[in-house]
Amino acid sequence: MSIEEQYRTRAKELLSGGAVKMVIGYGKGSNAKRRRPIFISSADEVDRLVLDDACITNLSGYLVSEGLLSDEKRVAVFLRPEGIRAINILAAESQLDAEQIVIFGFDVAGNEIKALKGINVEEFSDVIDSIKEGAPEAAEEELFEKIEKMSPQERFSFWQEEFAKCIKCYACRQACPMCYCRRCIVDSNQPQWVNTSSHTLGNFEWNIVRAFHLSGRCVECGNCDRACPVNIPLRLINHRMAEEVLGAFDHFAGTSKTQEPVLASFKKDDSETFIL
Ligand code: SF4
Ligand code: SF4
Repeated sequence: MSIEEQYRTRAKELLSGGAVKMVIGYGKGSNAKRRRPIFISSADEVDRLVLDDACITNLSGYLVSEGLLSDEKRVAVFLRPEGIRAINILAAESQLDAEQIVIFGFDVAGNEIKALKGINVEEFSDVIDSIKEGAPEAAEEELFEKIEKMSPQERFSFWQEEFAKCIKCYACRQACPMCYCRRCIVDSNQPQWVNTSSHTLGNFEWNIVRAFHLSGRCVECGNCDRACPVNIPLRLINHRMAEEVLGAFDHFAGTSKTQEPVLASFKKDDSETFIL
């Protein structure tokens, strides 16, 4: 039986037995290489679930939709390792109760689908540890290396050019599981912290503020740069930040549901003088 069939069978059992109220998975998209999120709440619908190498979107962000988990019922969700890391972060930041989440874990190597063993988030700690040990590579490794070799001025010009394309649509924010605030600082206009118009200064403010906000939290799922209509390689900034955070604090985002957020914790013996 294929993994797709196994997971359909499991989804059917969970829904018909009332163990979960919903399964969030992938369904057919607008063409053979596109998949879209689907939300199944009846056992009769499980044949709509698809699992193949085109299932790349991190679906974890849907779990924090307003009210979804407020009745304390369980919800199942298809997740790759990045999505599982995201569950740990959302739990650590008190955005969801991990006990309510049933994971259909999978990974893709080439175009081979591999099932990940486990149901609850704790059961995937080995998978996450192995990603950390394997020093994840940046998507678009070649471009990342090229940017790394640039002088600060060249790098500034590179990002200036990229950010000049930004149209402030905020699709990157909407697609990111870590951008869950009901009201984002950029939507606030009293005071207006970040310039909303699409010009160099405002675009830098938005993208750099967002990168800092994601430091120690980004799981490099790529939802943001796939959503960006002008193809800014956003994940590269977040990958660079992740490397800094790993080097400076030995913090790899999403290793456990009790992991302290790196920007919201401190150690008394921190060598920085500003820590009292
Ligand atoms: S910033 Fe982008 S890559 Fe990182 S978690 Fe958010 S959507 Fe995923
Ligand atoms: S998705 Fe792209 S264009 Fe839209 S706000 Fe984000 S960086 Fe700018």
